[in-house]
Amino acid sequence: MYDLKPIGTVQSTVTQSRDMPLQGVPAVINVFDEFLEGLTGIESDTHINVIGWFDKADRTPLMVRPRKISPQLEKRGVFSLRSPARPNPLSLTATRLLKVDGPLLYVEPLDLIDGSPVVDIKPYSAGWDTIFWARDVHSALITQHMAEEQVLAELFREAFNFHGEKCAAIAVSAKIAYDAAQALETSVRDIRLRLPRNVNPHLADGLVGVSRATMGNARLTFSEDPDVRIWTATRSVSYRVFDVSGSDAQRVLRMSSDQLFSKR
Ligand SMILES: [Zn+2]
Repeated sequence: MYDLKPIGTVQSTVTQSRDMPLQGVPAVINVFDEFLEGLTGIESDTHINVIGWFDKADRTPLMVRPRKISPQLEKRGVFSLRSPARPNPLSLTATRLLKVDGPLLYVEPLDLIDGSPVVDIKPYSAGWDTIFWARDVHSALITQHMAEEQVLAELFREAFNFHGEKCAAIAVSAKIAYDAAQALETSVRDIRLRLPRNVNPHLADGLVGVSRATMGNARLTFSEDPDVRIWTATRSVSYRVFDVSGSDAQRVLRMSSDQLFSKR
């Protein structure tokens, strides 16, 4: 009844599903000759949605535990998870199209393992596909149940998706957001921000990207105070942020907090 034809395959350095980081890795999609004409014009898109097929997935369960987040978590319905296990194991990844070279699409990141079939490609449209204020349980589970390093990687991904550049300042924003969520015992999505008027704009983008605080939702304000203040209805914490320009993002993510900011 349904005839699904793969249009290409994934070339990735990751060959086992268990080794694939949640954030995915850089990869290449090799589009088959008979579909090459369909790529015409694609180089004008900076980002694409890649729809793949998890060909090794178990298609029977409707309830699974999000193990990569934490084996302690309760089972959830597959339609509320991004797990490969589902009746029709389609994957959906919004990714950056770095380069088109004939049949080869260089993308970053992609969470499909080497050899996975790709069944469709569509342009990613920021105006249509980005709903900035959306809340999702998946992202909340990650920030509450994963180890610090994983949470930082996730916050960094979200800050980058908002800001568009993997700079040191957005790595600092991930570190501050993580620290504040711990100190205030709240979700990063619920914090309020008060930024100095002369705030580093990259840091500001990072903090807005991870928290979704905006002027319109009244969770983002500015003041003459040189510190970044983060608060909830009952508690608050302030950060004096040190200058890390000249450092790179991955190094910042590994640095200890007291090298990045002082806190009170
Ligand atoms: Zn930047």
